[in-house]
Amino acid sequence: MDGTKAILQGRGLSKSFGRGAAREQVLFDVDIDVREGECLAVIGGSGSGKSTLTRILLGLETADAGVVCYDGLAVNSSQSVADAAVVDTNVDSGAARVKPSSLSAMRKLPGFQALRRESGLVFQDPFGSLDPHWSVWRSVAEPVMLRHKDMPREAVLERVDQALRTVGLDPAVFARRHPANLSGGQAQRVAIARAIVNEPRVILADEPMSAIDVAARVQILEAFRAIRQARPGTALIVVSHDLGVVQHLADRIVVLHDGRVEEVGETDAMLADSRNAYTRQLIDAAS
Ligand code: ADP
Ligand code: MG
Repeated sequence: MDGTKAILQGRGLSKSFGRGAAREQVLFDVDIDVREGECLAVIGGSGSGKSTLTRILLGLETADAGVVCYDGLAVNSSQSVADAAVVDTNVDSGAARVKPSSLSAMRKLPGFQALRRESGLVFQDPFGSLDPHWSVWRSVAEPVMLRHKDMPREAVLERVDQALRTVGLDPAVFARRHPANLSGGQAQRVAIARAIVNEPRVILADEPMSAIDVAARVQILEAFRAIRQARPGTALIVVSHDLGVVQHLADRIVVLHDGRVEEVGETDAMLADSRNAYTRQLIDAAS
């Protein structure tokens, strides 16, 4: 049911960290599309660049070269994806060159601003994204109140309740709790409720289950499935090395290997009979 429209596009993305002899290139000319309504999994060994790539796509990090577009609008440079192909052949003509912006310049771009408004982020450590002094209710309500400054309290309540219910947490039980009184799985579901409460069109979840005990992972999985069911247009990018999770959640998979795209394909077909040696290695290691 994935639409063919790419809501988020990366073209020619490259990135290095460090300087001089310590300089290390972690992404090499990566192209990636995230389609409206799909769940796209990004898999690959540790250090293959999954977090760096997805952070660049979501505008959390600059690229050294390449273009990110959200809904056709530039996220990380003044170039559009359509221009990028032209620019590639013109790298030496200064004016036409893709000039990746600094984070502060990025913030002024229309695509960046739209993406920031319309995306939700979930990371590995659930407690890292929750303020220990805040109740569950406050953590989930805060993004709503910041966005809709004059929304009536009843409406905020309704939104928060709905977000908590979607991730399988009963508001009557959890709204007043603080992070210290939540399990890892519960805290991660609160973090997910916080990420979805403003109804994002794109969600990035980077290893959302890696820090969660195995017994609680299925509830996180269920939460993401419920989100997709409630809002089928939502694009979900899941970074995971758990192929069981990927199989249950993802429509398509991007395989990253040492900063390069190794393979892209439909989940079932790839897991069943990928001919790619690196992908097979990942699959065999997981089974
Ligand atoms: P993955 O998420 O696939 O494990 P990452 O994108 O986190 O991979 O990292 C890719 C490589 O980039 C690793 O070698 C990592 O050490 C390096 N790296 C990531 N972020 C930084 C950073 N902020 N500074 C320096 N090196 C980094
Ligand atoms: Mg990572």
